[in-house]
Amino acid sequence: MTFADVGLSDQLLRAVEDSGYGEPTPIQKQAIPSVLMGRDLIGIAQTGTGKTAAFVLPMIDILAEGRSRAMMPRSLILEPTRELAAQVAENFEKYGKYHKLSMALLIGGVQMGDQIKALEKGVDVLIATPGRLLDLFQRGKILLNGCEILVIDEADRMLDMGFIPDIEEIASKLPKSRQTLLFSATMPPPIQKLAQRFLNEPRQVEATRPATANVNIEQRLVKVDPDMKREALRRLLRGEDVRNAIIFCNRKSTVRDLATSLKRSGFAAGQIQGDMAQSERIAEFDRFKQDEINILVASDVAARGLDVKGVSHVFNFDVPWQPDDYVHRIGRTGRAGATGTAITLATREDRELVERIEKLVGSKIALLDAPREASSDDNPPDPAAKPAREKREKRHDRPRREERAGREDRAAREERAAPQEEVEAETGPSPIVEDIKPEWNGPLPAFLSVKAA
Ligand code: AMP
Repeated sequence: MTFADVGLSDQLLRAVEDSGYGEPTPIQKQAIPSVLMGRDLIGIAQTGTGKTAAFVLPMIDILAEGRSRAMMPRSLILEPTRELAAQVAENFEKYGKYHKLSMALLIGGVQMGDQIKALEKGVDVLIATPGRLLDLFQRGKILLNGCEILVIDEADRMLDMGFIPDIEEIASKLPKSRQTLLFSATMPPPIQKLAQRFLNEPRQVEATRPATANVNIEQRLVKVDPDMKREALRRLLRGEDVRNAIIFCNRKSTVRDLATSLKRSGFAAGQIQGDMAQSERIAEFDRFKQDEINILVASDVAARGLDVKGVSHVFNFDVPWQPDDYVHRIGRTGRAGATGTAITLATREDRELVERIEKLVGSKIALLDAPREASSDDNPPDPAAKPAREKREKRHDRPRREERAGREDRAAREERAAPQEEVEAETGPSPIVEDIKPEWNGPLPAFLSVKAA
């Protein structure tokens, strides 16, 4: 089945072609025709399966007909975190480039003035985190009774973050005769109940998880002492058959320090993290794609959406705080039928995080023996560039796990939803745009900087 077979318009087919996609992913094949027919849908799928395009593409074609009215968005997409919301907005920009749809993004950490102005003019698509949306609704800035389509994305993550009461409140303010799409990686009972209450005879489609289903990715765990992480990584990079690798860290500061340290050790390494301007990130990513460098040290948010074929290895220098991020990270390798290896360095303190990942992917990650002790071969290639003794990683308190909380804690929850930004607030404001708070670490959709008239 090709994209032309799923029923999309010619403009969309052009935009998809520009994105370089050969054929629809399984979730897209199943979901797009049903959404185009106006049916409600439950999509059981994780990030990495192409699920965003599975709802964004048909929505663009549906919304191409009709006009927006002041303060009354025509469709609403709810996302648990601002990063995901910004990512969906980017997808709308990418696939909607041959359409004239208007969009607004309501997320914590971004000044609202221009977005409110855009809303007042009328938007076709509103992408929001639940807390920020309800705040604006309660201030009378939005009317939800013109919303023809509601998307609840990452529903199980919403549940973990205590957003379900907010979603129920929002959904009950939308017109009954609407189309509702719900995406979730798992379907625990509260999500099933939510679906029963707010969806009308939904079609259920499912895409297997890349981490469990992708037999092309060999996953390994290496147990290391916290002080030996860099040493262990260097040995793995030399010992393994590494053609090229993306190395993920949890903090921007670790990305910076590790990239510098690897360069000092003679590796052709670059970095990509949220304090870099978008243009710098793209330039660095291009160097990686062109094989000018073969190691890219990255933070999760900065690396989101990066698509490069033929990455032989992914290393998790830090075990990710969110199990979903693990799936997302390792999915950078083993793409398009190629094989890949994903190696996670874990210290004793990471045990609980590893268990959560294993629960999510449904299997134990096999242990790889810790790399051999240093030998003379492990010295940096250039003896003149003698590396300084590596400093210990600065210890920060790990962010608390999300707890279910009452509605009154909404704003706090949205803040907590971004542990990476929290611990790195000290790194100063993002150079990307002035009105983004210092903790913003996500991609910036271009329309955010467009002022409403
Ligand atoms: P998602 O599951 O929405 O997070 O998407 C994961 C990645 O798959 C993103 O980098 C998309 O750009 C990419 N993607 C989406 N649809 C396709 C497709 N049909 N073929 C190849 N890549 C795709």
